Amino acid sequence: MTAAVIDGKALAQQVRSEVKERAAGLARAGITPGLATVLVGEDPASTIYVSSKQKACAEVGIKVWDYPLPASTPEDELLALIADLNANDGVHGILVQLPLPEHIDEQKVLVAVDPLKDADGFHPMNLGRLLAGDPVVAPATPAGIQEMLIRSGVEISGAEVVVVGRSNIVGKPIAAMLMQKAPGANATVTICHTRTRDIAEHTVRADILIAAIGRAHAITAPMIKKGAVVIDVGMNRTEDGLKGDVDFEAAKEICSQITPVPGGVGPMTIAMLLSNTVKLAGG
Ligand code: NAP
Repeated sequence: MTAAVIDGKALAQQVRSEVKERAAGLARAGITPGLATVLVGEDPASTIYVSSKQKACAEVGIKVWDYPLPASTPEDELLALIADLNANDGVHGILVQLPLPEHIDEQKVLVAVDPLKDADGFHPMNLGRLLAGDPVVAPATPAGIQEMLIRSGVEISGAEVVVVGRSNIVGKPIAAMLMQKAPGANATVTICHTRTRDIAEHTVRADILIAAIGRAHAITAPMIKKGAVVIDVGMNRTEDGLKGDVDFEAAKEICSQITPVPGGVGPMTIAMLLSNTVKLAGG
């Protein structure tokens, strides 16, 4: 059996068309959705991420408020900018690109963003609401994963889901989302991490395996159940180019559906950021 490859680019395009229609609806009501992007420093990967997010915004009718700041920007200056953006009625969403330089307290910055303008859904209040099953917006990557599963016709309700990785931006929120008593959820979720005694013991039970680890090819074929759906969140820059957390070539002979890297979760993340911004603008 060779797995069907889930085309993240095509699914993201569907979402983007829908977001464009929602933005057009807002425009007819005199509202131009606005996203402020704040990038501190010139990290090459972060610069690419921010510019692709900005380009995607422009394509669906979201106005970008661009704030590229020098790496030396003091924390209080960044906090003052966020306070200004919180007060700016034209800005409906604020995105602070992570990671921030070491001299800036990331948590302090995430908390400073108005929870009702928190396009990434990283504010502790929004993470709490997500856990309670009443999110303002969900973090873009987990939201993109859930959307991909739904649009790919994967049965989530009752499924054994194993998430490898417990970060605040991927592992924990996707686990919280898929365990909810809600449509597109109702899964039985297990989370693995570096202290898990035997990761494979869990992953081989997974109907849906989500790898958010940050280690190229950490998930090998024997760790995957036959017929499973595999979502590879990893983006690892190696000498051989960008690699996922899953050994894709071997895994696709075992699972039923799998996301590629690149072209899987990445495009969906951007699409969901656009969706979040339009939602925060009221659309
Ligand atoms: P992170 O904050 O570094 O978290 C990695 C998690 O994986 C941690 O919980 C860690 O466990 C766990 N882990 C690491 N090595 C492990 C191992 N050998 N066995 C089991 N668990 C292990 O990373 P992240 O921000 O969640 O990102 C994960 C990956 O997804 C990265 O490659 C990142 O680039 C990618 N990513 C992609 C997108 C996208 O849009 N496609 C978005 C976000 C992230 P401990 O907690 O025990 O340390």
